[in-house]
Amino acid sequence: MTATPETMPRTYQVRTYGCQMNVHDSERLTGLLEDAGYVPAAGADSTGGAEVADVVVFNTCAVRENADNKLYGNLGHLASVKAKHPGMQIAVGGCLAQKDRGEITRKAPWVDVVFGTHNIGSLPVLLERARVAEEAQVEILESLEVFPSTLPTKRESAYAAWVSISVGCNNTCTFCIVPALRGKEKDRRPGDVLAEVRALVDEGVSEVTLLGQNVNSYGVEFGDRLAFGKLLRACGDIDGLERVRFTSPHPKDFTDDVIAAMAETPNVMHSLHMPLQSGSDKVLKDMRRSYRQEKFLGIIDRVRAAIPDAAITTDIIVGFPGETEADFLETMKVVEQARFSGAFTFQYSKRPGTPAAVLEEQVPKAVVQERYERLVALVNDIAWQENRRLEGRVVELMVAEGEGRKDEQTHRLSGRARDNRLVHFTAVDAAGGVVDVRPGDVVEVEVTYGAPHHLVSDAPVRSVRRTRSGDAWEARTAAPTTGAAVSLGLPGLGVPAPLPEASGCAVG
Ligand code: SF4
Repeated sequence: MTATPETMPRTYQVRTYGCQMNVHDSERLTGLLEDAGYVPAAGADSTGGAEVADVVVFNTCAVRENADNKLYGNLGHLASVKAKHPGMQIAVGGCLAQKDRGEITRKAPWVDVVFGTHNIGSLPVLLERARVAEEAQVEILESLEVFPSTLPTKRESAYAAWVSISVGCNNTCTFCIVPALRGKEKDRRPGDVLAEVRALVDEGVSEVTLLGQNVNSYGVEFGDRLAFGKLLRACGDIDGLERVRFTSPHPKDFTDDVIAAMAETPNVMHSLHMPLQSGSDKVLKDMRRSYRQEKFLGIIDRVRAAIPDAAITTDIIVGFPGETEADFLETMKVVEQARFSGAFTFQYSKRPGTPAAVLEEQVPKAVVQERYERLVALVNDIAWQENRRLEGRVVELMVAEGEGRKDEQTHRLSGRARDNRLVHFTAVDAAGGVVDVRPGDVVEVEVTYGAPHHLVSDAPVRSVRRTRSGDAWEARTAAPTTGAAVSLGLPGLGVPAPLPEASGCAVG
């Protein structure tokens, strides 16, 4: 039978903006669409490029000041594409949809479906309903009905995967939109989390990143304050699971049992990304972050005592309303003492809908810029010193896909060390032969140079271990398909970002 437009499956493209929560949600949207019979659009360019997708889904983010202008600009562009392609549908989901709701179809009446953060599972049904009824469908729920990890998911990486342990957040940081848009924290049962991890390992995954806005409060819903440490230890019992990471911890809820679990569970990696946001007690109070400098530094000290080789990274906001020079110097002091191996630094910008956006005493832009430059210089200097200390060390890397932007020019491959550092290495053995490795395989290399943001190994590869993950990667690349396009400063497509730009706490 010849395929006709009626019998051909409808194609889709998902465009993702924002943090890793959205990246993971997009994996679910992709899984749902494929489950419903949609196929990825070839070339995935719906702006009039290679192929126009029948369905374009925007998974939006609300944390940037101009996020809505950008969305409406993109939608405006698609209006003319849609006019030339009858039957094309446009759906808008994610945080901005949760925030703007019916406003989206008022401003862009050519949008077919608007769905929120609590009902991503409804997308295929809403698309169908919009098609049959020939009118826009807007469905936003106030709270979660089904934990999203029970939805079909199309994982983008063969060797590494996100696993949600909770969604939402019970805190009320004044710069953050998450509580308003993602709701109160909902914890997933440990048995369900572990079952998903085991299933992933059976599929060839050897690294998981446990994901929650505040992993340290995991268990609050089912009354177990020590649930996160126990979950880490339980991951240690899963055969074939080589690397466990998590993001993001919260200093307020960080307990010593988690440090012990990190130190004593061999497959939990020695890296910690813990948002500081500010070193000033006054600013932390204004941010409504209920820990203080002393508590933060105390956690760092105890992590370093228990795990001396831990790489600790952080997020810092400069120029929060009311921040004085003295407050800023407190942040610089913490950076010096904590010796972060990297930090995501942000200039404070107002996020509509957050309490801090209406605070008086906004810091002038020029002052924020000047402080930001001083902070970045200090962060880079310390990170560089820490990286240079690793020169001559042998590190174990999991070969990565899409993490080395210059790999082609430099003829190197890239991988992540156990402490999460990015290492670019020359894949040549002692005899000068090319080492045949695949993403997900494991190598040992000697660090020959520590740069400010990565390490380099130009010495011969010491050892190679071909893994099940490498086999899984090879099997997948035999039939590659993807309809997902990820943008806005996110890491390589589909590979969980060990150091995401906008980590669990949404400071993107
Ligand atoms: S910054 Fe993080 S801890 Fe604070 S409200 Fe937002 S998600 Fe919760």
